[in-house]
Amino acid sequence: MKYKTTQQALDAMQALQETLAAYHHVMGVTYLDASTCAPKGSYECRGKAMGILSRITYDLMANPDNDEMLSALEADIDSLSQQQKREVEVLRKNYDQLNRIPAEEYVQYSVLLNDAEAMWEKAKNQNDFELFAPYLEKIVDFNIKFAGYYDAGKHPYDALLNEYEEGLTMETLDGFFGQLRSAIVPLLERIGEAEPVDNSFLFRKYPVEKQKEFAKYLMEVLDMDPNFCAISESEHPFTNGFNNKDVRITTHYYENAPTFAMYSTIHEGGHAIYELDIDDCYNFSTLSGGASMGIHESQSRFYENLIGRSRAFTSYVFPKLKELFPEQLADVDEEMFYRGVNKVEPSLIRTEADELTYSLHIMVRYEIEKMLISREISVQDVPATWNRLYKEYLGVEVPDDTNGCLQDIHWAGGSIGYFPSYALGSAYGPQMLAVMQKEVGDIYQDVEKGDLSKARAWLKENIHRHSALYKPGELFERCCGKFDAKYFTDYLTKKFSEIYDL
Ligand code: ZN
Repeated sequence: MKYKTTQQALDAMQALQETLAAYHHVMGVTYLDASTCAPKGSYECRGKAMGILSRITYDLMANPDNDEMLSALEADIDSLSQQQKREVEVLRKNYDQLNRIPAEEYVQYSVLLNDAEAMWEKAKNQNDFELFAPYLEKIVDFNIKFAGYYDAGKHPYDALLNEYEEGLTMETLDGFFGQLRSAIVPLLERIGEAEPVDNSFLFRKYPVEKQKEFAKYLMEVLDMDPNFCAISESEHPFTNGFNNKDVRITTHYYENAPTFAMYSTIHEGGHAIYELDIDDCYNFSTLSGGASMGIHESQSRFYENLIGRSRAFTSYVFPKLKELFPEQLADVDEEMFYRGVNKVEPSLIRTEADELTYSLHIMVRYEIEKMLISREISVQDVPATWNRLYKEYLGVEVPDDTNGCLQDIHWAGGSIGYFPSYALGSAYGPQMLAVMQKEVGDIYQDVEKGDLSKARAWLKENIHRHSALYKPGELFERCCGKFDAKYFTDYLTKKFSEIYDL
């Protein structure tokens, strides 16, 4: 026996977690650099370096000594703290899973993803799906193979879903999406017959330098401490948190669409606040970074929609916008702005979708992923299937793949089974809001004055500070009770009936 005492095993577990965290830190910074300012030609050598680093982290985690260490801790589990118990549980899951993936495949996959992201960007810019298709084929094959390693007893797509949201299945999602569809589609029809909202003023020329100033201002309003959180630019906005003292967000500025940077900054801000508000004890631990993708998305979308698109928030930030863009907004008032950022319009691009139709964009991706992983369609069928579903669900014609199936980075990054967590996250938020309002009173009276602290304090206490101490479903139920999508559909119905005077 390598570990004579529980303390020795605990020390080994701590050392392992800290070493892994250090590697993930370096790899995360490299990824951030690659997505923001690294020159295009750097991808090949970076791919090699990332391959070597992945190999090291693979070996660190798959090391048979870990099995012995975890077994020693499992034998004396009652003497451990709650955090240590959960660390053992998560590390055990990771260890067992990794040992089912051959090291060679693991490394090949991480090299593939590096190349695929560079190729995806090129394919998107040149509207050439064929450039990306061979990479996507390999990514799908790897995911099907990995799903078998994760849990051979499950349908491969269920096994992939479970990676992002423990316990999530196609059965649950089919029911959830069905419930959403039956509420959203009729509402959308009524909105289509109502007086349209004019948001043409949001497509005037808004100089990027001024937009950057506004993004900075938003980070102040969201109380994102610049000592611990920075913003940069990338093709596709994202958040990368290394620990609760170093969280990075990115955005993308479009001169003719200022609300893209505005709402992506608030969205990524929600992710960042989550990571900034995690308790110190989870730094350098396997429990860092939050509970799950779904819970993470619930926080980003809470900030983006429930706060950022509320009348209270838009009325607070509107004077600042007027100050930065006096000419562009000369003929616009607060109410026009609120209605403008909440305009419902079936569209092509997910990240620009309004709050109501957003879930329909997710449903398209969900259906395609299910079919790809079940081998009901091939990668070659993706563009046509995509276009057909957009027509069916959203009623829009997709003009090209750049505005169609090449728009998102997720598949290039290997994330298949991730998209449903966006819809789930959107639906968690309104239920959290209902409980929050009951417990701490109306948050919007404060939001109207630019004070977001009441909402943040509730989220920190109930969600953020715990990171991954609890499983996502358990974390949610501890503060909100059983999940019910009705909170979400009621919220949408009430909000949009008022805006469109239905
Ligand atoms: Zn997000």
